[in-house]
Amino acid sequence: MNTAKFEKLLREEKQQIEETLSSVGTKNPKIPGDWEPSYPDLNVDPSDRNDMADEVEEFDNALGVEVALEEKLREIDAALDRIPTGDFGKCTVGGEYIDEARLEANPAAKTCIKHSQ
Ligand SMILES: [Zn+2]
Repeated sequence: MNTAKFEKLLREEKQQIEETLSSVGTKNPKIPGDWEPSYPDLNVDPSDRNDMADEVEEFDNALGVEVALEEKLREIDAALDRIPTGDFGKCTVGGEYIDEARLEANPAAKTCIKHSQ
């Protein structure tokens, strides 16, 4: 299997995710790979509850995006870790080779289609 091609795809995707993460959060300097969503400025006049609700909703959205991206980043890192050990492209459940078309669509895929459910 041409792992160099997939390694390139994974690194490109990782870079894109890190760029997106830096727009919705900040890197936690204490925990590598951990990101914290940027807190909105909650300095809203308490009499203006609609503004407050908007701010909270905005934060909730950022949190959801942040969590999903962080999870994706972890999957990518795990996939990159499997390249030097020769385990890249093998299903982590059954050990069989993952269909190359599936890896092209998602190079971070951990399992074959059968074991993805
Ligand atoms: Zn499998």
